[in-house]
Amino acid sequence: MKAPSSAPKKSWFQPAPTEAERAEQRQARAKLRIGIPRVLNIWSTHQFWFGFLEALGIDPRRIEFSSDTSDEQSRTYAKGRGTVDCCYPVKCISGHYGELLARSKRKIDILFSPMIHSVPSYLDGHVDASLTCPRVMAASENIKAGFIKERDAFAEARVLHVTPFVSLADPPVVPKQLYEGMQDAFPGLTLAETTHAVEVGYRTLNAYNQRLRAKAREILEWCAREQRPCILVLARPYHMDPGIGHEIEVDLQAHGYPVLWAQYLPTDPDLLHWMFDPDIAEGHIRSPLDIRDVWKSSYSGNTNEIMWGAKVAARMPWIAAVVRLASYECGMDQPTYSPVQSIVERSGTLFFSFQDLDSTKPAGSVKIRVETVAHYLAKQGADIIGKKLAASQPDCPLLKA
Ligand code: SF4
Repeated sequence: MKAPSSAPKKSWFQPAPTEAERAEQRQARAKLRIGIPRVLNIWSTHQFWFGFLEALGIDPRRIEFSSDTSDEQSRTYAKGRGTVDCCYPVKCISGHYGELLARSKRKIDILFSPMIHSVPSYLDGHVDASLTCPRVMAASENIKAGFIKERDAFAEARVLHVTPFVSLADPPVVPKQLYEGMQDAFPGLTLAETTHAVEVGYRTLNAYNQRLRAKAREILEWCAREQRPCILVLARPYHMDPGIGHEIEVDLQAHGYPVLWAQYLPTDPDLLHWMFDPDIAEGHIRSPLDIRDVWKSSYSGNTNEIMWGAKVAARMPWIAAVVRLASYECGMDQPTYSPVQSIVERSGTLFFSFQDLDSTKPAGSVKIRVETVAHYLAKQGADIIGKKLAASQPDCPLLKA
């Protein structure tokens, strides 16, 4: 397929394509190979994009993600294309773009990098509860600048850079946003099929999130049955990228402690009411998924989920330790450091923080700190569980499993 760096806009005076032309356009679309940088909010929404693109006729085997972030990736593909942004997870995107553009085997036709303005959230009761960090939202265009400043690297690689603006937390506007942002790149695209594909995207994402929440509940039930401690990681979903979060949670798990991730905590009504009914009765919150008692600002979906995760950690007896991860110079996370720590520690739960993560992986110091977490859990885990259990409501649903 011909792939100039920017496709001509449609003219109002063009006749509508015939059915035969549409069928031909759909066939051409099915042959597209789509590259998606494995960065930022793609970590929590990739299943939406899988469902969406597949419903538009793209073979899932033709959807290519870049590799995890690594030094080698930056060294090889980001040279001279850096951005002035001091946020490390944003800086790393240049390596992902470069890697996708450089692919000669399984060469991509489209580099798909949506500007995600808001992300779906399970939380409830907040205005603008789901906005993304502005650096995240602008990243696609910010990074593009480095690839066109001397010569147009997209045109040279014959790859279209497609960056639809999308508010995923606001489903009714999404079909129009994606249709407008993608119609020039996807042959024969219609608003009706975009609308259908968006529905499939949400269904795929929800099913995936439910599977992960069910798994987290299973782990908590096991901990409750065996009276064993587990660890909760409070971070942004992209800290799961080994190059951004430095696999600290993997090292912790190697010590035999199950690790849960805040964004995938179970949200089953029985568990939520067991944890939060006293707060509702006292009028601190209106629902178990409301964080107005601890966080008034509510300007970022990921931040809100970190705050809620801290509240869950404080109430869940088997979460005996919390590990906080944050990236170097993250202005969004900075104001949350103290409230998160005090919510967690006030409940007697252990709190450890790995802040200012950047390109350097201080392996020695991470090892020592991971061993410290494991040491305190071995020493105090059972005691913490006992004290938190004594302070909880009776009849924990996890103990009935
Ligand atoms: S939330 Fe923080 S780490 Fe993430 S993109 Fe924004 S500034 Fe960077």
